[in-house]
Amino acid sequence: MSEKIIVIGGTAAGLSAASAAKRLDPSLDVTVFEKSGYISYGACGLPYYIGGVVGAVNDLISLNVEQVTKERNIKTFICHEVIYIDRVKHSVIVRNLKRGDESKYLYDKLVIATGAVPILPQIPGIQSHGVYTLRNIEDGIKLREALIRVPNQNVAIVGGGFIGLEVAEELAQSGHHVHIYEALPGILSFLDAEYSQLVQDELNKHGVKVSTGHAITAIRTESGRVIGIDLDDGRECPADLIVMCIGVRPQSDLVREAGIKLSVRDTIATDNQMRTSDPMIYACGDCTHAYHIVTGKPVYIPLGTTANKQGRVAGRNIAGYKEHFPGVLGSIVTKVFDFYIAAVGLSLRQALDAGYKATICKIVKGDRASYYPGSRDTHLALIFDTENGKLLGAQALGASTVAGRINMLAACITAGMTVAQVNSIDLVYAPPVAPVYDPILIAASQAIKLVR
Ligand code: FAD
Repeated sequence: MSEKIIVIGGTAAGLSAASAAKRLDPSLDVTVFEKSGYISYGACGLPYYIGGVVGAVNDLISLNVEQVTKERNIKTFICHEVIYIDRVKHSVIVRNLKRGDESKYLYDKLVIATGAVPILPQIPGIQSHGVYTLRNIEDGIKLREALIRVPNQNVAIVGGGFIGLEVAEELAQSGHHVHIYEALPGILSFLDAEYSQLVQDELNKHGVKVSTGHAITAIRTESGRVIGIDLDDGRECPADLIVMCIGVRPQSDLVREAGIKLSVRDTIATDNQMRTSDPMIYACGDCTHAYHIVTGKPVYIPLGTTANKQGRVAGRNIAGYKEHFPGVLGSIVTKVFDFYIAAVGLSLRQALDAGYKATICKIVKGDRASYYPGSRDTHLALIFDTENGKLLGAQALGASTVAGRINMLAACITAGMTVAQVNSIDLVYAPPVAPVYDPILIAASQAIKLVR
């Protein structure tokens, strides 16, 4: 009899696991349960869908249920929620959300890919009409409809992380009046303070207002509709529509109830083969932790890149392979109007907190030859250990070319290189592409001077 694999969650991590397992061992009987109405879509494209850059919701969907069922031979059920895991009997209880009935399914191996949900602060008015989140396709459809229905609205975006900023850009470009409210001293809090200010300046330049350092304490309503927000300094700010973007928390309740070990911030603990504390159960994606490549410690950095790769590792191991997920560096890139922002590894704060004798070295250098038209400043920061010069992190702002440079620095960190070794790399040069001394080499040569 074929081995039964049940996967809970049908997007990045879950479908990657299901597809990898089935591809490598076609004899497996693989079933995916997804509680929403959609599978296999690019959540990362949602800001561009609500802003209209992506025209139709179907453009975000890679595979529908029929394709996964017929082409990949994976039984796939949408609007089906797994509500209970019985580890002794190796079964799950699944509720059909359309009909309301429940059924029991047996598994030999189970994959938890339940992802994450937006954090909503417990403040007055949070459930009001006009408060939105952006996590899945249903959220995107509701938000886009609300934005199209009434033009030129006052939109409050609560949270100045990368999703809040991407939403801000899109809404400002579609004619809404956008104000970002961030409780921490700066937006994109992982960035160096000066860099965070440069991003804020870019937002302001394009008409997006930004308030930092004050938390939202209440949502004000009139006749059940949002009319504004209150801040902890007593300010009352007008808003017709609110998008809550203060981060996500892992959906690990099912697993907690089943007695499986949890890790940092209530993520599901796994080893590097994506096995949980129960040898028959794997977990992957935004519901799990990952090990940081620099510190070796478990961290929660929920990203699509990680979810896809962890899912694939889980699927391959279920099919009998021995794959390891190598860990994460929190590599991230985003765009705000004409500014690209990329970062990898530890920030200075994180490096100091982790016990490194770390410092930061920042430079500004054109991204191509200074005389060549279109050259733009690259702001590049290296974070490194002053005792031995080891590179721990990097951040960059500028044109889209920052992504490639941060990717290269991600390779350097993964290889455990020092700033001296980075400085000796033979990089490309041609006036339209890069200056003779690449910004990476300029930054590394400055950093070397600060190593003892
Ligand atoms: P999820 O996508 O959360 O999927 C989990 C699925 O499990 C959900 O569909 C849920 O309905 C289902 N589920 C949960 N519980 C149950 C249950 N009990 N029974 C059945 N089904 C269940 N990452 C990047 O790397 N780059 C980006 O640019 C980027 N941009 C983003 C922009 C936005 C607006 C958002 C929201 C996210 C972005 N991300 C980005 C993050 C990325 O989308 C996530 O890391 C990724 O989607 C996580 O995939 P996942 O499969 O682990 O979890």
